[in-house]
Amino acid sequence: ETSPLLANGGDEGGDIHSKLANIRSLMQDTHDSCINFSYEWRKDQLTRLEKLVRDNFEEILDALYQDLGKARCEAGCFEMGSLVSEIEFFSKNLKSLMEPEDFPSPIGLFPGFSKVTPMPRNGPAVLVIGPSNYPISLSLMGVAGSLAAGNPTVLKPSELCPVSAALLAKYVPQYFEANALQVVGGGIPETTALLDQEWGMILFTGSERVGKIVAAAAAKTLTPIVLELGGKCPCLVDETCPADITQVANRMIWAKTANCGQNCISPDYAVVHKSKIDALVPELLKTLEKQFGSDPKQSGLGKLVAPGHVTRAIEMLQEVEERAKTDKSIKILVGGSDKCDAKAGYVAPTLILNAPLDCRVMQEEIFCPILPIVVFETRDEAVNLINSRAGTPLAFHAFTSSDKVFRELTERCRSGTAVQNDFLVQFVGPYLPFGGLGSSGIGAYRGANSFKAFSHMLPVVHRPCFPGADLHMLRYQPFGAFKEFA
Ligand code: NAD
Repeated sequence: ETSPLLANGGDEGGDIHSKLANIRSLMQDTHDSCINFSYEWRKDQLTRLEKLVRDNFEEILDALYQDLGKARCEAGCFEMGSLVSEIEFFSKNLKSLMEPEDFPSPIGLFPGFSKVTPMPRNGPAVLVIGPSNYPISLSLMGVAGSLAAGNPTVLKPSELCPVSAALLAKYVPQYFEANALQVVGGGIPETTALLDQEWGMILFTGSERVGKIVAAAAAKTLTPIVLELGGKCPCLVDETCPADITQVANRMIWAKTANCGQNCISPDYAVVHKSKIDALVPELLKTLEKQFGSDPKQSGLGKLVAPGHVTRAIEMLQEVEERAKTDKSIKILVGGSDKCDAKAGYVAPTLILNAPLDCRVMQEEIFCPILPIVVFETRDEAVNLINSRAGTPLAFHAFTSSDKVFRELTERCRSGTAVQNDFLVQFVGPYLPFGGLGSSGIGAYRGANSFKAFSHMLPVVHRPCFPGADLHMLRYQPFGAFKEFA
């Protein structure tokens, strides 16, 4: 059962383009009335959003379980916890976020004053395109920022999560007016039709490949974009790594297996100093066993969102397994292709020691619980290895007890975000900007940064109009005494 094409408004027959025209016209009416510029309208939308989430919390957890096999605790804490705190942040801080900010004026503007006033983006609406790995939170987090900034909004959730998409399509019309928030369901054809339109802004969260499609479509209408994309996020375990290697292993396994490894900021691969490898590997294996038992298929690991994603993981593993037949340094320490099950969405947590750099596991974003490990001797070697992967990662992680080494590494290994001695924590609160660099994205969002990203920050100069307020001799022809400098 996929979500209905259009959830609310404009759903009375006709092709997708005429339906979208109807939605756009409803939303443009909101802009034309200017009601969405007010504090009351924005606050009302945020209240509705929070109510939708709180009233239907249990059903949302069920949907996430059906689409991704997410354990309720994991979905409640990580997927829904961040979303609720983001909505609360906007509700609590909306007044101050909307406040115009004063800026100094150059002396020539005296006696005028300057400020920046946050306004909604252009009509008819902001388009939010959500990803499959956090189908509720990463869709509604964007929606929250967009509504807080005063934008009527259209949400296109991922078709790979049909239960979550259907839930959004069912509840959004029950909680929102059709001229404020609408859900458009469907897959590539519907997204393509949406991208054919001009929007006030597009927030896209998804892969680099589709990000390029979105950017190309947006360029045609000069629609502003924020792209939240992925990449191959390295984890460097330096020789200055903190002494508690058990904790390092706990964190690494947690970040690689949370949401079944489908995190844009999971450690994609580990680059480990040779002095640490003998201590780290047994701890990683122990942690895996502790968290998922001897048969992780029977555990609360969760599943990949589409069977095709498992097939891809199996192919990647088979490539390494083939190489391991002739290169004895390559070791599959646990897991492997034969333990995976595409029908069940299951990829066995797999650790690969000495992963070959020219194999797909070291070249593409892995996005499932497979962790290749590469050993290095000098820091230069590690930096070169990381920088020779394609693109710029969304996250860089380094385990080092030296702030100086960490700083040096973040300068040499560029990334969208960086974490010292942990993973995923840069996304937890609504305070830090979150976004990529280069191939991992354009722009940033979360909290106040979202509010800015979804707003048009209107620069305004107020000037009084009275005799003497203008420097006549400089401003107006024939420039009086300053003529020769003109
Ligand atoms: P995806 O790019 O396959 O899909 C994302 C959205 O794009 C979906 O709504 C889908 O319907 C739409 N889409 C797919 N193909 C399209 C096409 N040809 N034309 C137009 N629209 C199309 O990504 P996904 O599998 O849902 O998510 C995984 C990717 O997203 C990973 O690369 C991950 O790193 C990234 N991601 C990034 C962030 C972030 O915040 N930076 C968060 C989550 C996921």
